[in-house]
Amino acid sequence: MRLLLMGPPGAGKGTQAALLAGHLGVPHISTGDIFRANVAGGSPLGLEAKRYMDAGDYVPDSVTNDMVRDRLTQTDAQAGFLLDGYPRTLAQVDELDSMLGRNGQALDRVIELTVDVDEVVGRLLKRSAEQGRSDDTEDVVRRRLEVYGEQTAPLTAVYDAKGLLVRIDGMGEVADVTARLLAALDD
Ligand code: AMP
Repeated sequence: MRLLLMGPPGAGKGTQAALLAGHLGVPHISTGDIFRANVAGGSPLGLEAKRYMDAGDYVPDSVTNDMVRDRLTQTDAQAGFLLDGYPRTLAQVDELDSMLGRNGQALDRVIELTVDVDEVVGRLLKRSAEQGRSDDTEDVVRRRLEVYGEQTAPLTAVYDAKGLLVRIDGMGEVADVTARLLAALDD
């Protein structure tokens, strides 16, 4: 299974992706997590990514694509993966297609978690209080939602046109959302 999980910041992507990947036995590849690990480790990639992340902006496509290309060539990703937070721009969609196409691979399904935006802002601010993520302050959260709307939301139409998109209601209890996701994948 080669899957993408999309949805605005705070939609519960990270939580659901981890549960789903465990269930399907494929690696959960979150570009946000990889960037945060690099920031924490003080690598050159982390230093570069941090200034974009702290502003709520996207890390440049060239940097992000190189990082994902590297991750997808690792052995554990050969039989499948669940991508969380990538692709987020049209250039990344094209790049992912060519990375997979080179190996005769393609995506099986793209899932969009849909949520109520006011609810999402509340969730993110709660996470900020609990986890202290530096990009969860109210201004940055609003910027991240704006960037998502401008640059990433249009991607769902692209995947819909390819017949890959499934929309799942991301509101409600974590277990209920997971059950909806698993049911959709069984179809
Ligand atoms: P996330 O944890 O997925 O919300 O990602 C946190 C931050 O990492 C984002 O706000 C971006 O600054 C950066 N990031 C994650 N994935 C990407 C991507 N595919 N393209 C560009 N920037 C990204």
